[in-house]
Amino acid sequence: MYTYTKKLPIFASVDVLVVGSGSAGSTAAIAAARLARRRLPQSRVMLLERYGFLGGTSTAVLDTFYGFFTPGAQPKKIVSGVADDLIDELRRIDSVIERPNTFGAGTGITYNPEFLKIAWERLALEAGVEILLHSFVTDVILEGDRIAGVIVDGKSGLGAIQARCIIDATGDADVAARCDVPFERAGEISPAQTLTTTFRLANVDVRRATSMPRKEFIERMEHAAESGQYDLPRREGSIHITPIASVMATIMTRVSVSDPTDTFDMTSAEIQGRSQALEYERFLRDMIPGYEHAHIVAFSTQIGVRESRRIYGEYRLTREDVLDARKFEDSVGLCGAPIEDHHTGRDTRWSYLPEGEAVSIPYRSLVPQKAEGLLVAGRCFSATHDAHASVRSMAQCMAMGQAAGIAAALSLDQHTTPRALPYARLRDALLAAGATLEIQRTVHV
Ligand SMILES: Cc1cc2nc3c(=O)[nH]c(=O)nc-3n(C[C@H](O)[C@H](O)[C@H](O)COP(=O)(O)OP(=O)(O)OC[C@H]3O[C@@H](n4cnc5c(N)ncnc54)[C@H](O)[C@@H]3O)c2cc1C
Repeated sequence: MYTYTKKLPIFASVDVLVVGSGSAGSTAAIAAARLARRRLPQSRVMLLERYGFLGGTSTAVLDTFYGFFTPGAQPKKIVSGVADDLIDELRRIDSVIERPNTFGAGTGITYNPEFLKIAWERLALEAGVEILLHSFVTDVILEGDRIAGVIVDGKSGLGAIQARCIIDATGDADVAARCDVPFERAGEISPAQTLTTTFRLANVDVRRATSMPRKEFIERMEHAAESGQYDLPRREGSIHITPIASVMATIMTRVSVSDPTDTFDMTSAEIQGRSQALEYERFLRDMIPGYEHAHIVAFSTQIGVRESRRIYGEYRLTREDVLDARKFEDSVGLCGAPIEDHHTGRDTRWSYLPEGEAVSIPYRSLVPQKAEGLLVAGRCFSATHDAHASVRSMAQCMAMGQAAGIAAALSLDQHTTPRALPYARLRDALLAAGATLEIQRTVHV
């Protein structure tokens, strides 16, 4: 925390402040505002975002939600509540398609990311969330161990936003780190996940492009790379159909940096990612039937970061918890997605939960050590590298966001802190909001 020589203007004083509007943050703000509207009618919930649109990685980088279903032959839906309203909103304004995932991550829900920006906005505004875009949180205001606000920078200059409870949904734990919450930096204990610039190709002959068996596609990629004619670090990237005719989307490039929270490293990563994307486009056009006339029409707004800082919370989810599909007494959501490790090699490693099973996400993994009045949600939650590589899927980020948003508003209503909030109260409120906390077993009569 810095000492400011100039007194900063107070831009706003709110009850719940959510920093970062990705799948976790947007859901957190919507869930908090819905509960606050009923229980704390005069309260203010604000969603703060550095970009000019909501959605974070869901709109800036990707187009497919994973984690809604358990993988396997008989998928069960395991994430609900705000997430259902989001999909309904997308269905109203866009064509959403369900796709089986070739890597066994369960059914994916593919959307048009431009429409998703609008869907997030509509749900947030309907719930009464105050949205503040183009606002980058650079620092925090602490009163002892309690976080009392954040410092934001933007076109209006530096200013303070005061809040009674704050949710760090920045993905990078920017807020928690500045409160001196202990965290593990990706790569510190286990090798870090790589970064990916995604890109979309238009003018694809989709019928021909999707008729080549995956095995042959990979062999051609391998062969092209081995020939020395193409520089393709990842040899089995994903390319898939979208709701828009003749447009395909990719997750193919692979960039390593030592620290995704370092501005210099990120600058280099952005440049490498776009350069690699051009190389993959060249390979596709030259070597895969159906892409002869394809062109890149969009790079991701920023390079996709899979992991950076993971906080240490009241509980740390582990690889064993995930693979054993462990159930916790303070469950706030479920995850059946496999551990998906995009390491620096040519392939991707997958480890699976038992078919039809899911691990529960404990509330304690959203409650950071040390700081009061603070919760985290999304990919900066408290987990080891492996557990994170499963639970970071976007549906789970929504489940965590919903839990954090409800816990934040509820703790104010109950005049307590998020740490001291009785789980039974949280569970009731989550169930009332439509959350799924246990797998629905089929009952045979
Ligand atoms: C390349 C790649 C492919 C993936 N593929 C899939 C997939 O196909 N399906 C799937 O379900 N998951 C996938 N994942 C994982 C998933 O997308 C992420 O784990 C998830 O989106 C993270 O959501 P989040 O809300 O925690 O963070 P984010 O979506 O990253 O949101 C964080 C938000 O905080 C904002 N922010 C950050 N710092 C600040 C600050 N200091 N001040 C203000 N705002 C700030 C950011 O702009 C952003 O909007 C993939 C991830 C990557 C990188």
